[in-house]
Amino acid sequence: MKIAKIEPYIIVCKLETPFYFSQGQYDTRRICIVKVILEDGTYGWGEGYGPADVIKSGIEYFKPFLVGKDALGHEILWEEMYHKSLDYARSGSLQAAISAIDVALWDIKGKLLQLPVSVLLGGIKNPLIQPYATGLYFTRVDNLKEKLVEEALLYKAQGFNATKMKVGLGIEEDIKYISAIREAIGPEMKLMIDANHAYSYREALELANKVEKYNIAWFEEPVSPEDYEGYRRLRANTSIPIAGGECEYLKYGFKRLLENECVDIAQPDICATGGLTEAKRIATLAQAYSKDVVPHTWGTWIAINAAVHFVGNLDKNPGRMHCDMPTMELDRTENALRDEVTKSTIIVEKGILQVPETPGLGVDVDLDALENYIEINTDESNVKVRS
Ligand code: MG
Repeated sequence: MKIAKIEPYIIVCKLETPFYFSQGQYDTRRICIVKVILEDGTYGWGEGYGPADVIKSGIEYFKPFLVGKDALGHEILWEEMYHKSLDYARSGSLQAAISAIDVALWDIKGKLLQLPVSVLLGGIKNPLIQPYATGLYFTRVDNLKEKLVEEALLYKAQGFNATKMKVGLGIEEDIKYISAIREAIGPEMKLMIDANHAYSYREALELANKVEKYNIAWFEEPVSPEDYEGYRRLRANTSIPIAGGECEYLKYGFKRLLENECVDIAQPDICATGGLTEAKRIATLAQAYSKDVVPHTWGTWIAINAAVHFVGNLDKNPGRMHCDMPTMELDRTENALRDEVTKSTIIVEKGILQVPETPGLGVDVDLDALENYIEINTDESNVKVRS
């Protein structure tokens, strides 16, 4: 089953409502997806998380080493790509390019064997997943607090039992929004906060101390991903569980995070950290450190479906007769690329999603929609975007 073609695409759309977080503003979605096609026409879709142009270049770089090779030997191909990047980019967006191709190879494998990816990973250990709603970004409105409360209540009404909000605007402002949302959603619904590494250790500790009373389920990326010591000290000095890892790559990055006692919850992004092949190794590593794994997930249904199969296969930590359903990230923010270009077999009902039993990832691309959103030229003046 030889690989005939590898076709990366950059898809792009303007947001109707731009939003911001501690590190910047989004007014456009721009994603690199890839189609890997075999000689018999079987194809799989993958996606990279990060700068779309860099990931597309990475895929072009790996392509000559993969065309003509057996698609079923995904670990052999993974090693080939890893060794072709090792001397120049031991972490970063070349790993996202590896991830995109790797995810597409798992999709292909599932289609060839007529099995869902979670079965190929070792079996559907968790047929039902209770995702948390990611949203609660900041928008340029006068009544931001009321808007955030309204959005959190919408997730509650939709059946989500947990939601994650952005922080990182400054401690007092963060507290204003956290307290308002907690008061509105009541004590039962889980609430996580995500600073996107906005704070120093001392600032993060001050925020953690001041919001412990709001029953925060985890504090995500409190400090810089380079500040392993800050992570370790914060975790030792707060009762709030600490989460992080969306900026880590490969098992080696997570080894640093775990051996330094930085996090309670490891958050590999499957489409950046090395694909499903490496994410499974990271899950095993985290299990050896007795840590939870909740993947960071962003982008189209390709990335979401990959995460669903991954979480569907995750071991319980530590496991007991009656376990809670595992969770994963489900981005609820505006994304036409997710909703129009990709079509998933996953249905989210009353805050619960079922791991799909369709072959492969259970996702496909609407080729007409792809045409509408595809970027035909990287020259800004000639970018074809949805207005
Ligand atoms: Mg995050």
